[in-house]
Amino acid sequence: MYDAVVLGGGYSGLAAARSLMQGGAGCLVLEAGDGLGGAGRCGPVAGESVEWFYHHIKPHDTFLLDLIDQMGLADSLLWQETFMAFYLGRRLYPFSRPQDLIRFAPFNLADKLRFCAGMLSSRFTQSQNLAGMSAKDWIVRHWGRSVYHKMMAPMMRNKFGIPPERVCAGFLHGRIKGLSATKAKGVGGEMLAYLDGGLDRLTRRLAQELATGAEVKLQSPVTALERTKDGYMVHAGGLSHPAKVVINTLPLNYFAKLPVNFDFDSQVKYQGAACALMALAEPLDLPYWTNILEPGFSFKVVVNQSLLGRHRANLVYCSAYLPDDHPLISAPADQVRELYLKDLRTMIGPVELVDCLVTQSTVATPVFDVDYRQQTHDLQNRLHNVFFAGNATIYPHSRTVSSVIGSGQRAAALALERLEAQARAA
Ligand SMILES: Cc1cc2nc3c(=O)[nH]c(=O)nc-3n(C[C@H](O)[C@H](O)[C@H](O)COP(=O)(O)OP(=O)(O)OC[C@H]3O[C@@H](n4cnc5c(N)ncnc54)[C@H](O)[C@@H]3O)c2cc1C
Repeated sequence: MYDAVVLGGGYSGLAAARSLMQGGAGCLVLEAGDGLGGAGRCGPVAGESVEWFYHHIKPHDTFLLDLIDQMGLADSLLWQETFMAFYLGRRLYPFSRPQDLIRFAPFNLADKLRFCAGMLSSRFTQSQNLAGMSAKDWIVRHWGRSVYHKMMAPMMRNKFGIPPERVCAGFLHGRIKGLSATKAKGVGGEMLAYLDGGLDRLTRRLAQELATGAEVKLQSPVTALERTKDGYMVHAGGLSHPAKVVINTLPLNYFAKLPVNFDFDSQVKYQGAACALMALAEPLDLPYWTNILEPGFSFKVVVNQSLLGRHRANLVYCSAYLPDDHPLISAPADQVRELYLKDLRTMIGPVELVDCLVTQSTVATPVFDVDYRQQTHDLQNRLHNVFFAGNATIYPHSRTVSSVIGSGQRAAALALERLEAQARAA
C-alpha cells in the first residue's frame, strides 16, 4: 500500500510528490499522458522544444524560481524586459510606458486620468477584500464606465470567457497588481524570464529526482476512486493502487465525474484554450505581448516568443481562451492553424509559415466566478484523506506554474500531517 497516490503529473502533482518523498512518504504519481509537466509541457516546432502553451516566469514566481534553483538551473534563466500592446481599429498601440498612455488614441483625456486613478487605487487594495464583488462593479467604480467599455470589458471577455459582471474582482485585482509588480524600474516594460531550453528541462530534472524515491506511471489515466477501510483504491490504466491518502491535482470537474463510492460534487467550471505555436520564415514586428481588442478575431493574444529567451526559429503564439464546448477546441489542428494564420495576415500582412504546433484543452483554467470562494469552500476538508492541489486551489492568486507548485507543496504538507497522525494512532 502506498502512503500517498498523486493524481496527475503536471507541476502541482510533481511538486506534491517531491514534498511527499522529502517527508519520507512512499508515493505513486499517476499521469494520463505520455509525459510529465501537464500544461507546461513542451512540443517540437521547427526542430526546437518549446512550451506548447506560452510560458513566462515573473520575478515574484517564488515557488518556481526556488525549484529552478534547487534543480541547479538558475543560470539558465534568461531575464528580459518585454513590452505589450493593444490591437484595435486595425492599429497597434504600444502600452507599456507612461508615454504610451498619453498616445493611446482610443482614450480621451478623462479616460487617461481615470486609468491612472484606477491603477493607483488598485495598489492600495487587497485582493481578499474584493471577494464576492464583480469585476465590472469594481472597474466602473475606480476606472470609470468609459475605460471599462473601451478596454477592460473586451479584455475580460477575452481572458475569462464569462460576462465581466460574473468575473470575481479579487481575481482581476490580483492580475493587475501582479502586472505592476513586474514593471522594470516601476514604469517600463515587464521583466520576464524564460528557462533556456524550455520547462521540459526542469521537468526532466524533477523526474530524475523522483526516480530516486517515488514511483511515476505514465499513460495511466485514473478511471475510478474507491474508499476502503484503510484509505482509497485508485483504479488507473487497468491496475488498482491502494493508498492511505490521495492528492488530487486533476481539474475538479474531471475529479467530480470519476466513478466513486462516496459523495463529491463540484460547481467549478473550466475554460478551454486553442493555441497555435507558429514558426515563421521572418521575425514579426510585434512586441512580446499583444492583446487583441479588435472584434471578430479568432485569437485574442499574440505572443512574440522570439523576444523572450533564445530561439533558433521565429516563434509566435496565437491563442484564445474559449468556452470548453467551443468548436475550435475540438476542431482538427489544421483548421485552427488556417484560421489563426488568416487573422494574423489580416493583422500584419503576409507571413510564411515554416512549422506549427496546435494545442487544445477543455480545462485550461478554472473560471474564477464571482462566487468562486463559495464553490471551493473548505475543499481540503470535504473528503477524508483526499487533499487538493492545482489550478482550482490557488484562488485569488494567478494561475501559474509557480502558484500550483506552492499548492502541491501545501497539499503534501497536509497529507504528511495526516499520515503522521495515522501512524501515531496505530
Ligand atoms: C494558454 C496558457 C498559458 C499559460 N501561461 C502561463 C505562463 O505564462 N506562466 C505560468 O506560470 N503559467 C502559465 N499557464 C498556467 C500553467 O500552465 C498552469 O497553471 C500549470 O501548468 C497547471 O499545473 P497543474 O499541475 O495544476 O495542472 P496540469 O498541468 O493541467 O496537470 C494536470 C495533469 O493531470 C493529467 N490528467 C488529466 N486527467 C487525468 C486522469 N484521469 N488520470 C491521470 N492524469 C490525468 C493531465 O494529463 C496533466 O498532466 C498557462 C496556461 C495556459 C493554458
